[in-house]
Amino acid sequence: MRFIRNTLSRLGNDIAIDLGTANSLVYVKGKGIVIQEPTVVAINQKTGRVLAIGEEAKKMVGRTPIHIVAMRPLAKGVISDFEVTEQMLRYFIAKACPRKFILSPGPRVIVGIPFGVTEVEKKAVRDATLSAGAREVFLIEEPMAAAIGARLAVQEPGGNFIVDIGGGTTEVAVLSLGGVVYAKSLRIAGDKLNEDIIHFAQEEYKLFIGERTAEALKIGIGSAYPLKERKEVPLRGRNLVTGLPEEIMVSDTDIRRAMERSVRQIVNEVKATVEETPPELLADIMCRGIFLAGGGALLRELDTLITKETKIPTRIVEDPLTAVVRGAGLVLENLDELCDVLSEAEDLEPPK
Ligand code: ADP
Ligand code: MG
Repeated sequence: MRFIRNTLSRLGNDIAIDLGTANSLVYVKGKGIVIQEPTVVAINQKTGRVLAIGEEAKKMVGRTPIHIVAMRPLAKGVISDFEVTEQMLRYFIAKACPRKFILSPGPRVIVGIPFGVTEVEKKAVRDATLSAGAREVFLIEEPMAAAIGARLAVQEPGGNFIVDIGGGTTEVAVLSLGGVVYAKSLRIAGDKLNEDIIHFAQEEYKLFIGERTAEALKIGIGSAYPLKERKEVPLRGRNLVTGLPEEIMVSDTDIRRAMERSVRQIVNEVKATVEETPPELLADIMCRGIFLAGGGALLRELDTLITKETKIPTRIVEDPLTAVVRGAGLVLENLDELCDVLSEAEDLEPPK
């Protein structure tokens, strides 16, 4: 650990990357967040060339001609397409720290990884980051980074409870003394809620809608618990029976019903973790509360529902979408105090 601290603190060109299933963010030491883009890459399959990355590529999703694919290289929090992930990391690293000279060394990089990924998956992240031009790579578990980003006192001997709801996974973790005491990862999060809405529109209205429309509905009028004021918006799609475009009105109640099962599963995961938490830590958590991070934390009234179901006050961390990268960034800035929270990757034997 001391070695890590010494080597890392010697240089200025350090960056932190949150490579999320839905969004990727980059933090440059001394500067703050410099990149925040969707984790989407558009590729021309005829030539194998990357056409666009991030926001520009996301706009192409569902709108591309046959030979262009807009893909998300991370599935459920782990790398599903190594080469595309590497290209994306290369683009981020080049954009965040342009090289002054051709021979300048690449940056040292801290990358967030979901809790509980295998050694093989950790190695994939490390290798992709190294071949994308990093000089050295350190890993941090995302729930830990999110908690640090939320300025929770993770290094003290008290319990902290963090729920990170991203695109692919919901991670529920209890942290104390700079480590993860207990954590669970559920493969139900923001993407699943979008799928639920697509299914609902199909089953209920025979209406075919795309993923972006479903996400816009979720963000626009979705909620986890009944709202004080009714919300209603027009929904456009293709009628599956007639094949023609159609517009109907949907309300927050419809969308809540569509997502109900998945929201329930997320809440049950939180409850199960509360039940597994050692009593001493639970006492701290009852005072401090449950903290929600990740984009999914912004689902209306999810905090209310979790408070009701767990009887523990629940709140959303400030700017939940950036909590992980800000936390990893804080580790970069304060390595002396925080280097212990980095996750050590075992060195794997290369395959024979
Ligand atoms: P990841 O870490 O997996 O990249 P993020 O933390 O960036 O994920 O969160 C992305 C998820 O949050 C997406 O599924 C997105 O639809 C969802 N999201 C973003 N804003 C909102 C909102 N206001 N209400 C509900 N969900 C939201
Ligand atoms: Mg995330």
